[in-house]
Amino acid sequence: MLETLRRIVQEVNNAADIRSALDLMAKRVRDAMGTEVCSIYLRNEEDQCYVLMASEGLKQEAVGHVSLGLAEGLIGQVGLREEPVNLEDAFSHPKFHYLAETGEDPFHAFLGVPVMHHGKVLGVMVVQQRDVRRFDQSEEAFLVTISAQLSAVIAHAHASGVLFDQLDTGDGLLPSFYDGLPGCPGAAIGYGVLLFPEADLASVPDRHVEDISDEIGRLDDALVRTRHEVRDLAERASKSLGTEEQALFDVYLRMLDRHALPAEVIALIREGQWAQGALRDVVDTHVRNFEMMDDPYLRERAADVRDLGRRVLAQLQSQSRRHIVFPEECILLGEDISAPMLMEVPRERIRGIVTTRGSRNSHMAIVARAMGIPTVVGAQNLPLKQMDDKEIIVDGFRGRVVANASPELKKQFEEIIREEASLQAGLEKLRDLPAQTEDGNRIQLQVNTGLMTDISRSLERGAEGVGLYRTEIPFMVRDRFPSEEEQRVIYREQLAAFAPHMVTMRTLDVGGDKSLSYFPIEEENPFLGWRGIRVTLDHPEIFMVQLRAMLKASEGLNNLRIMLPMITSVIEAEDAQHFIHRAWLEVREEGFDIPMPEVGVMIEVPASVYQARALAQRVDFLSIGTNDLTQYLLAVDRNNRQVASLYNSYHPAVLHAIVHVVEQAREEGKKVSVCGEMAGEPAAALLLMAMGVDALSMNASNLLKVKAAIRQVKMCFIRKLLSEVLAMDNGEVISAYVDLQLDKAGLGDLLRNRKVLA
Ligand code: PEP
Ligand code: MG
Repeated sequence: MLETLRRIVQEVNNAADIRSALDLMAKRVRDAMGTEVCSIYLRNEEDQCYVLMASEGLKQEAVGHVSLGLAEGLIGQVGLREEPVNLEDAFSHPKFHYLAETGEDPFHAFLGVPVMHHGKVLGVMVVQQRDVRRFDQSEEAFLVTISAQLSAVIAHAHASGVLFDQLDTGDGLLPSFYDGLPGCPGAAIGYGVLLFPEADLASVPDRHVEDISDEIGRLDDALVRTRHEVRDLAERASKSLGTEEQALFDVYLRMLDRHALPAEVIALIREGQWAQGALRDVVDTHVRNFEMMDDPYLRERAADVRDLGRRVLAQLQSQSRRHIVFPEECILLGEDISAPMLMEVPRERIRGIVTTRGSRNSHMAIVARAMGIPTVVGAQNLPLKQMDDKEIIVDGFRGRVVANASPELKKQFEEIIREEASLQAGLEKLRDLPAQTEDGNRIQLQVNTGLMTDISRSLERGAEGVGLYRTEIPFMVRDRFPSEEEQRVIYREQLAAFAPHMVTMRTLDVGGDKSLSYFPIEEENPFLGWRGIRVTLDHPEIFMVQLRAMLKASEGLNNLRIMLPMITSVIEAEDAQHFIHRAWLEVREEGFDIPMPEVGVMIEVPASVYQARALAQRVDFLSIGTNDLTQYLLAVDRNNRQVASLYNSYHPAVLHAIVHVVEQAREEGKKVSVCGEMAGEPAAALLLMAMGVDALSMNASNLLKVKAAIRQVKMCFIRKLLSEVLAMDNGEVISAYVDLQLDKAGLGDLLRNRKVLA
């Protein structure tokens, strides 16, 4: 059973397009279950119905045409109940709805299971049989299992909007929405430019060529060089390899013969496909065929074809890389875009960035935020290859990408982009004004930094110091640990740029989703693993170098504060303080005249919330990292799109935890700040201010918006709002209520883009 399942799933995943995938699915499931009919109905949101999309056993003319309302017939029943419906005689069920066009008259036994993805019904899979009989438990289990496995394929097609295109009788394609995670806030419209890693066949896009013979010429050149490469390899390997492996090279050379694979590639080029796309298609077809074979030896040959394809592709790309032209308004697209890839593109042309993988803390996302480029990461359903050169909208506020936008939708986004620009321009006048409420209550607004580029953007916006300098970022952009002197120079630049304001330097916070290529940490469960302070306490040689560099860098400026990440117990805080003290004594002995800096801890795990008082007794300040705190309190991975909707910093547990920490710090007379994303959201920032937080530290792009919000309210108003929401027990309700109240108070403009087109 398992083997059959594996085969079906693999075959379906390898199908050339969604239509063939659905057909295959119906065919293979019918065969595997020995039934007479297997059909797949998919939910069409636009028309609020289920459409028969594939069938093995019903009339083919009905496919793509027959549909049922969402509550109609047995299909509607399966969808409504979200569970299998297993009937020995469908005809006698009161909900049975006869569809004459399908020719289902003779089929009595009916088993339908919902195709579910992320809690939503995408469709219904049905098997039917002539006999009056009930499908048994194992048959039901099989269909449920296969439908669960295949739901991702269907979800992908659903999300990419390709499913119902052919049924759309309107004036073109329907808008398609692809959800990811916000990488950098902002909206942008531009044309997709696919950046793909070299020699990765799967990420080669479709492109049309006009000059066929020129393209064939490119292919020929690439083939000549690949043949040379294979011969070289064969020669080098000749001494050490056995005859069987040697034969592999001959096979490669035969496949490269102009009458073999290349002939098929050329045929596709003649149809207008560029050489890389044609090569991809030919290799894909052969790989699929080999993978389908029962003989394990022949199945293995798929790998050879793939490898050969990669080699030819590498040669083709080495020719084309030189003339890549970036349009004026480009949206960079890629599975993963590395920071160096980003740097190759002229900044003034980049409107937005979208990746299908990656996380908010990927190196590229950090750079994008520093450059203020609207970015969406992890939009995993985005069909990259079809997006090249297409008009795309990036909604970095919500973490969403839109393709085939209708003129109205596009207009809405153009409006948002204009509003954002004018809002920002209007906010500039606030630069030197204090962040204080109408009734004179002040709060400090600081910035989160990491790269050098952050400095100027922060100063332009009037930041009152740095609440979080993520020191891991300069570590991440190198290929080895930076030396003490290298670190001193980098830190000095930060400290000098913001002096006399304080700069809060967080000690190295790696692990979790932040990795150093030269210090790999491989764990099953990295967010619960070796992260933050745990790593540095285990590596005094790394920790001490960093501390000494920080201390030395602050000489004469005296604006350094040191902050410890991921503290879960007083022991860790004390151990770290011990190292700080030791480093301080050492640098003083070396002749540096430096006062002992303030030392604080981050409150970002539930344990430290409950230890806040004890920690506050030992350190000079607390800083609440709401990104991790929300993640750990709600048990929601902050980079997992699947559970993104559960990640809510307005959850009562999060709000009450923050209130508790602020109270505990106050009891000890210690300052408390917030440096997670929450601090940079105007609405949340007001609640934090009402809680009594002393400083808010955020991405420079948000600073003036937060300041504007603070300057438009009275303390009594936000305190009342806070007390109201603290009495509520539902995060969604809290968030909606806060938005409503602030909107009524005239702050709608500042909040609008957070809930764009919800
Ligand atoms: C946080 O967890 O809220 C935080 C500011 O740290 P980081 O996002 O760097 O983990
Ligand atoms: Mg953190």
